Formats: sequence, structure tokens, C-alpha cells
Amino acid sequence: MRKEFLPFSIPTIEQEEINEVVDSLQSGWITTGPKVKKFEDEFKAYVDAPFAVPLNSATAGLHLALLAMGVGPGDEVITTPMTFAATVNVMIHVGAKPVLADIEPGTLNIDVQAIRSKITERTKAIVPVHFAGLPCDLDAIFAVADEFGLKVLEDAAHAVGTEYKGKRIGSFDTLSVFSFHPIKNITTGEGGMVCTRDEKLAEEISLLKFHGMSREAWKRYSAKGTPNYDIVLPGFKYNMMDIQAALGIHQLRKLDRFIEKRTEIAELYNAAFAEVEEIVTPGAAPYAYRHAWHLYTPLVKIEQLTIDRDAFMAELKKENIGTGLHFKAVHHHPYYRENLPVPAGELPHADYVSDRILSLPLFPKMELADAQDVVAAVKNVFARTRK
Ligand SMILES: *Cc1c(COP(=O)(O)O)cnc(C)c1O
Repeated sequence: MRKEFLPFSIPTIEQEEINEVVDSLQSGWITTGPKVKKFEDEFKAYVDAPFAVPLNSATAGLHLALLAMGVGPGDEVITTPMTFAATVNVMIHVGAKPVLADIEPGTLNIDVQAIRSKITERTKAIVPVHFAGLPCDLDAIFAVADEFGLKVLEDAAHAVGTEYKGKRIGSFDTLSVFSFHPIKNITTGEGGMVCTRDEKLAEEISLLKFHGMSREAWKRYSAKGTPNYDIVLPGFKYNMMDIQAALGIHQLRKLDRFIEKRTEIAELYNAAFAEVEEIVTPGAAPYAYRHAWHLYTPLVKIEQLTIDRDAFMAELKKENIGTGLHFKAVHHHPYYRENLPVPAGELPHADYVSDRILSLPLFPKMELADAQDVVAAVKNVFARTRK
């Protein structure tokens, strides 16, 4: 057994990030400033988006995106049950009703036929999530959106570096929201970015993110700005700090290297688990894409074991292997069970996956030997819990 605990995820922070943060701290400019602007510009160039708005989280980005798209009370928004609660919580914040459509059993992404079946005259938008970094079938989703006059907001929290049919997520004609939380593919501590090709939406989100002040308001304390400012609407306090962008600038330059390492580990897992009867490895999609491998999320066939998924994760912990849970389906959480009840059997694939999924360790600083320890531990647990 492994001697030291292997966490499910650790961010890769190297000397460049540390130096850049120290530089910010010593410069006298800590909050939103030139480094945020630089990170915004480099991120736009990376994903090939004409407009981007840096924020203090992806949750903030999803919230402001819904507001900028005009989603509000009385509207319905279709999304996937296999997501982090933030995707759905922000719909509640703006007074809209989340409507859950089932997932595809292979990719775990939202099923486009299921989206169609949930459309009513109140439907305003579709929010697909690129689960674990595998892109949704955007062409099919855009076709449905066009047919019914709906807006599309991509929850791209897992998809920094993901490509769909040769184009990066963030470059499509929609709004996409990225997360830089410490477990995501690149981190700013906390942080997020909204990308769009629509200048008016970018402008609206920029206003909303900082009290309703005009876009370049941060300059008011610099030599180039003036101290006066105008509030043009009652905005929020969702701006990214320079200390955060200091991390992001260097993380972004390392992203492709990080994804290569993640891919190598994911492929090792796929090969090692191919012959293991009790585990289902993550599925593939039939179109061209680059998987960003944010997460490695196999399913455990609990019907073949004497224990459930939570007990399986506890057994792995005894083997010194950390795990994550991405995700318990939205409609299984107490708030949503009570306020957004889903009739039994209406989301069969999400229900099945929600009880069997877990996230195994996957991060760029892992060695291949660590991944082999994970494989050995998983096999050990199966050996002692097999029916
Ligand atoms: C992490 C995550 C978010 C929220 O990101 P934050 O930056 O922590 O606000 C939203 N959606 C999904 C699918 C996520 O995994």
C-alpha cells in the first residue's frame, strides 16, 4: 500500500507564479489592474475570442451571463443534472426555473434529444456543461437553439483548453464561462472568465461585474485616470484582482503542458481498467475533439459489490488514495429535491451515474507511479468487496 496520502487534486504552482504574485504585492497594485488586463488579453488570444471579461469566479460569470442574456422570472433554462450546483443556483438567483434534461450515458454530457423534449414556450436558454473537459455536441445544440430561438450559455468550467471540431471552447458564437478554482485545469486561486463574440454582452457583463461602473473604472486611481466615476446600473462586486491574474498569466502559458500530462495519466487509467469487470471507463464522443481531461470519472458497478459508492471511496481512502465526487446529480440535493422535484425515473441515466461515479486523482504534478498506485488500490478494494 502507498505510504503517503495521494490527494485527488493539487494545483501546480511554480516559481514563475510565486514571483509574479510577489511582484504584485510589492508593486502597490493588488486589485484589478494591468495584470488582469494582460491575463484577459492572453486568454482571449488563447481561446480565440474577441471579448473576455475576467471575474472572481465562474459562478459570478454564470450569474452575470444569465442577467446579460435577459434571463429572469418566468423563464425556463434547460441544463444537465450532472453539474456543480453553481450552474443551477444562479438560475434561482435570477428568478428563472432550471429544467433538467438527461445525459448521454457514455460522455455524461447533456443529451440533445432530451433537450428537445424539455422545450416549452417559456424556455429561454440552454446551458450545456462540457463534462470533465469533453465537449458537448455544440453543432447539434446550436441547431436546436436556432430552431426554437433559444440562447446558449456554455458552462466551460471544465473546458479550459478543450477543442470541438478543431476550435477551442470560448471561440463559439455564444457565451462561455471558465473557472480557475484550484482544482480546475489552471488556477488563479479563485477566478473565472466569460468569453463571447458579442460586444454588447461583454460590455453589459463588464458593467455588472463592478458596481455598474464603466469598463475602465479601475484606472481612476492611476496616473492616467480621473477619480470621478458614474454608476450606470446597480452592479455586483465580482472583479478579478491583479494578485489572481498574476497566477493566471503563468498558468495559461503552461496549460498545454498540463493537459498533455493529464491525458497521459487518463490514458494509463483507461488501459489499466479496460480489463477490470467492476469499472466503466469514461466514454468518448463520435466527433473530433481535444479532451482537456479536467477529471477522470469512471463508474463503479456497485451491483457487483457488497458496498455502495460512498463506502468504495472510503475504502480507497484507507489505501491512501483521495477521491472526488463530480457530481451527485443536482436533483439529488436536498434543496432541489424539495424545490425542483423530478418524478422518479425521469432522468434515468443521471440517476444511474450519480450513484456510481467518482473522480480518481488526476493532476499534472502526479507521477505515472502515483497513477499505478491508484490502479492497484482500486483493484485491492474490488478484491475485498466483490460479491
Ligand atoms: C467549478 C464549477 C463551477 C463553479 O466555478 P467557480 O469558479 O468555483 O465559481 C461551475 N460549474 C461547474 C461545472 C464547475 O465544475
